[in-house]
Amino acid sequence: MLDQILAPGHPGYYGPYGGTFVPEVLHATLEELKAAFEQARRDPDFWEEYTRELRTYSCRPTPLTPLDNLSRAKGGVRLFLKREDLNQTGAHKINNVMGQGLLVRRMGKKRVIAETGAGQHGVATATMAARLGLECTIYMGSVDVERQRPNVFWMEQLGARVVPVTEGSATLKDAINECLRDWAYTMDHTHYVLGTACGPHPFPQLVAYFQQIIGVESREQMLALTGRLPDRIYACVGGGSNATGMFLGFLDDPQVELVGVEAGGRGLEGGHHAARLAGDGSVGVAQGYKTFFLQDEEGQMRETHSVAAGLDYIGVSPILAHLRDLGRVRFAAATDEEVIAALRQLMRTEGIIGALESTHAVAGALREVGQMRPDQQVLINLSGRGDKDIFTIATALQDRNWVQFLKDKVAKS
Ligand SMILES: *Cc1c(COP(=O)(O)O)cnc(C)c1O
Repeated sequence: MLDQILAPGHPGYYGPYGGTFVPEVLHATLEELKAAFEQARRDPDFWEEYTRELRTYSCRPTPLTPLDNLSRAKGGVRLFLKREDLNQTGAHKINNVMGQGLLVRRMGKKRVIAETGAGQHGVATATMAARLGLECTIYMGSVDVERQRPNVFWMEQLGARVVPVTEGSATLKDAINECLRDWAYTMDHTHYVLGTACGPHPFPQLVAYFQQIIGVESREQMLALTGRLPDRIYACVGGGSNATGMFLGFLDDPQVELVGVEAGGRGLEGGHHAARLAGDGSVGVAQGYKTFFLQDEEGQMRETHSVAAGLDYIGVSPILAHLRDLGRVRFAAATDEEVIAALRQLMRTEGIIGALESTHAVAGALREVGQMRPDQQVLINLSGRGDKDIFTIATALQDRNWVQFLKDKVAKS
C-alpha cells in the first residue's frame, strides 16, 4: 500500500481524491516540479543530503519518549511519544520545507513563496530560505498578521518579505489566492512551498514523501525500544502532513491501528469545529484539489473553529480521505476542552508542553486507552511544542494575571 501512495509516476489520484484543478498556466510548472521530484528521488544522494541536513540542523532522529507516569495513571497501557516538538522551529514542518528547499536548489530556482495562516509554516519557510540562500516572500491575511505578530517579526528578522493580504476576509484562503497569483507570474524562477499534504498533485505526494521520515524512524525506534510494533497510533490532523508522515511508516503493518484526530472545536453539533473526516465534511473541489471540505449545500466554504490555529482548515489531505475509505485509518475529533485538559495532564505528569495542535492526538488517545490492556502499546505523535501557544493556553486555563502580564509586556516591547 505504501508503494502505491509514494509510487513514482503516480497519477495524482488517491481513490477519487486529489487531482490537479489549477488554471492552465500552472500546468507546465507542476509538470516541471513532478519531473524534478521523480529525478531527485531516484538519486540516493538526494535522500542522503536530506537526512544529513535534518540530522545536523534539526535534531533528527527525534527521540521516542516512554510516558511511564501517564501510563500508570491510565491503567497500565504503555504510552510513547514521538518528539517532533524537538525539531528546529519546534514542529515537524521543517521536514517538509527543508525537503522542498533542497529540491528547489537542485532545480536552480532562486526564490520561494508561501502562504501562512497562524504563521508557523511561514517561519519554517523563512528559516529554510535563510539557510539555503533563497529569496523568500510570505503571503499572510492582514487579519492574521495582526493576530500573529511574533511570527511576523521572526519571518522578517529571518530575511523574508511578509505581504499582508487585504482582499476578502483577509485570512488564509485569501493569502492562498494571492500566493497562486504570484506563482503564475514568477514560476520560471520561483517555487511555491506548500505547507501540508494538500493542494494539487504532486504536492500531497511530495509532502508525504518528506514527512514519512517521522513514521520510518518511529517504526525502527519502537522495535529497538520494545521489540515490537505499537498496537495503535494517534496523530492530529490539520492538512494532514504529520499524520500522513507518521502513518506511512506503518501502512503495511495491518495489525497497527491508525487513528487521525481532528479539531472538534466546541463540539461537532454546533458547527464550530474543523472535523472534515470525523465530522460533516463533504466531497468537493477547491484550492486545486478534490477532497472532503467543510462547505454548505452550495459549496461555499464554512467558517472553521479550533483552539489550535494549525488545525483550523477547511480541507484535508486526499491521501487521508482515501485511507479512510479503505478503512485503514480511523478518524476521531477532540474538543477544545478535552485538549486543554490533556495539555495540563501531559505537563503535570511528564513535564512536556505540547502544541495545542499536537495535544489533539494526546486527548484522542487519553479518551480511549482506558479500554486497552496493560500489555498493549500506544504511540502518539507530538507534532510540535506549545511555547507559541502561551497566550491561548493562559487564557484557556483562565490564568488572568498571566494573560494581563504578557499583554503588557508585548505592548511595551
Ligand atoms: C501546522 C501544524 C499542524 C497541522 O498540520 P498537518 O499538516 O496536519 O500536520 C499540526 N501540529 C503542529 C505543531 C503544527 O505546527
